[in-house]
Amino acid sequence: MSDINMTLQQAYDLTFSCLRKNGCNEENAAAAASRLTQAEGDMCQAHGLFRLPWYVAGVKSGRVNGSSNPSVKKLAPAVVRVDGDNGFAPLAQKIAHDPLVDCARENGIAVLAITNMFHIAAMWPEVEALAEDGLCGIAVTASYPYVAPAGGIKALFGTNPMGFAWPRRDGAPLVFDQASSAIARGEIQIAARDGQPVPVTAGIGPDGQPTTDPNIVLQGAQLGFGGYKGASLAMMVELLAGPLIGEFLSFEAEADDAGQGGPPKGGELIIAIDLARFGNPEDIITHGEVLFQEVLKQDGVRLPGDRRFKARELTKRDGINIPKSLHDEITSLLDES
Ligand code: NDP
Repeated sequence: MSDINMTLQQAYDLTFSCLRKNGCNEENAAAAASRLTQAEGDMCQAHGLFRLPWYVAGVKSGRVNGSSNPSVKKLAPAVVRVDGDNGFAPLAQKIAHDPLVDCARENGIAVLAITNMFHIAAMWPEVEALAEDGLCGIAVTASYPYVAPAGGIKALFGTNPMGFAWPRRDGAPLVFDQASSAIARGEIQIAARDGQPVPVTAGIGPDGQPTTDPNIVLQGAQLGFGGYKGASLAMMVELLAGPLIGEFLSFEAEADDAGQGGPPKGGELIIAIDLARFGNPEDIITHGEVLFQEVLKQDGVRLPGDRRFKARELTKRDGINIPKSLHDEITSLLDES
């Protein structure tokens, strides 16, 4: 399959124009284009331009508010809620950052509930931004029912990711961001698109049998990582990002969509912890560095997040590659509108 190479700025411009021409106002298009391009820049293609046609379908169907105006409300001294006004997640997430940081600095810890938004993608942008401000961050979200409970064969939980970030003394924070499924949904969709197999641990067919065919897994159910342990974490995320914040469970989000297409609607729970309220932040960070030094003494070990940070440097220099078929699809969306 041939690829098109473009700079990050070109990728942003293409995405921004496509969203603007397909029903997003400037603020929403800029926030979404920035987030999709950021994912490409970190070589997380499953959250990159691959999602753009889906975004356009969401706005065109009338489900997604391309002119959303998210609002911030304090529910309790350490609880902030941002209502995404049925827009794409990136604008609400951007607007939510400063109030969450302020609230964590006031209270030592703060919880943010972001609701009524579409396509909460990767968790690392939110938690990494918190760690860059010197805070520790934890984020979770639920999506459509893709993962079977342990022992079951029917998809019920989302692939429900968890992100964690910790500030470091020098350089980029420590960040991990992982699905509670064995592999992320987007990876299976990309494997299906590219005719590649998936690991046998990824999922089962509708008959409950293991398979490496991504198309069969898409018809059946994904599996949690580590068997019942991943499934329990997926259930925890359902509760935190669903009932706790007044949002859908994964299967309710799918029912709400009712086959209209476009990205899932839902919410995100983010916890921010201010190190300075627990002691001298320099001492806390230095103590964390002791752990990282010990971890990295072992051959073959790297810290989570390092692949992305290296990718970020590479794509700044060399640009990104997207499949020509995707580029053609995006260009046709520009022409159609
Ligand atoms: P991966 O399994 O690719 O990676 C999970 C984490 O482990 C990353 O932080 C990664 O860091 C780290 N990691 C990978 N390999 C190693 C290693 N050898 N040593 C140390 N750390 C390592 O991610 P997933 O497939 O589980 O998820 C991909 C993305 O999809 C995430 O961003 C997640 O938020 C998102 N997602 C979103 C969903 C949604 O509903 N919105 C649902 C499910 C997933 P690094 O990045 O540096 O490789």
